[in-house]
Amino acid sequence: MYDILIKNAQLRHKDGRWNIAIEKGLIQKLTRQPIRAKAGKVIDAGGNLVTESYVNTHLHLCKVYTLERMDAKALNAYHGADMGGAMTAIELAARVKADYNEKWILPNVRKALKLAALNGNLHIRAFADVDSKAKLIAVKALLKARNEFKGIVDVQVCAFPQDGVVREPGTVDLMKEAMDLGADVVGGIPWIEFTDKDEQIHIDEMMKLAIAYNTDISMLVDDAGDSTLKTLEMLAVRTIEEGRIGRSLAHHARAMSLYPTPYFKKVAALLRQAAMGVVSDPHTGPLHARVKELLEEGNLVCLGQDDISDAYYPYGQNNMQEVAFLASHLLWMTTYPEMETLYDMITINPAKCINLPNFGLKEKGNANLVVLDAKNVCEAFRYHKAPMHVISHGKLLKASHLKD
Ligand SMILES: [Zn+2]
Repeated sequence: MYDILIKNAQLRHKDGRWNIAIEKGLIQKLTRQPIRAKAGKVIDAGGNLVTESYVNTHLHLCKVYTLERMDAKALNAYHGADMGGAMTAIELAARVKADYNEKWILPNVRKALKLAALNGNLHIRAFADVDSKAKLIAVKALLKARNEFKGIVDVQVCAFPQDGVVREPGTVDLMKEAMDLGADVVGGIPWIEFTDKDEQIHIDEMMKLAIAYNTDISMLVDDAGDSTLKTLEMLAVRTIEEGRIGRSLAHHARAMSLYPTPYFKKVAALLRQAAMGVVSDPHTGPLHARVKELLEEGNLVCLGQDDISDAYYPYGQNNMQEVAFLASHLLWMTTYPEMETLYDMITINPAKCINLPNFGLKEKGNANLVVLDAKNVCEAFRYHKAPMHVISHGKLLKASHLKD
């Protein structure tokens, strides 16, 4: 007797119809042979695509649905043609934190996480601002939400010193407190500091913290229209020096699009040495990391949602198919093989980037799956609809439980 049996599934890169038996949170059987045992719930996929659930490695979850609280100045500054005003945008967007309060943050967070569940986006690395304005309000709210959604949407809370470490005295202590409260990941944004020396201090301080708490690191690097930014390289070098291979993740790296090519190739090699992935969100800025070239160089790349209705991006619904659909246009990745690559970039690649254990559509893999209303990846992206069924930790999610 299984918990769930999925019949007639189309799998990616596989011929024929497949049957998937799920029990105790795991995929027990994945076979073309008929499965005769009974199951609590039988789903006939009818030849539709069944895949791993989606993973979002980058979401500013404490800021979701704050767009109404902002004026348009921050959005205009971030999205200026050359991204010269990225730092101004962050300073303008910080205004929302003057009245940060769990009372309004938590309902917004819940709304975003329910949407994530409906859209089969079951693992999220969520950034919580830690600075003199937000203090620990965002971290506490996201930790609460993490516990509420455990087993439905897994949230990794990343304590994130959005306004800098050297620029914002007292942030290192606040970051320590955030880790003591139970944050999962140490964040960073070294490029925001005023000097190269301060950028290095930022990276070193956050690295010390990650080592002390034995956590991964996620840093927003080189996120402005300045070809001379070097914090991606600095993070990779520090990661290699500390022997923390596979424990650091780079986000944005938009200045990469302006790097001279020989420098880009050196940095790409360092990233491979550090087993450090790059998260790109091409829809949230006019500049973005050199995704196709990184892929050609054999680097690990994934896509992120980044923002949902805040000072940096007005849309978003935690739907990673929608993110891939947008990226398909922005990156000109519209051939069938490129669509498959994009699909990897919202499933297995991000799972690797944030070290999710036992992720994947395989026997004895964790049963986090989506049954789509589409025969193939092209159709899935064309309509980017919510899956027909979402299975999280071996349990079928019901929309009625997750709607507001
Ligand atoms: Zn971001």
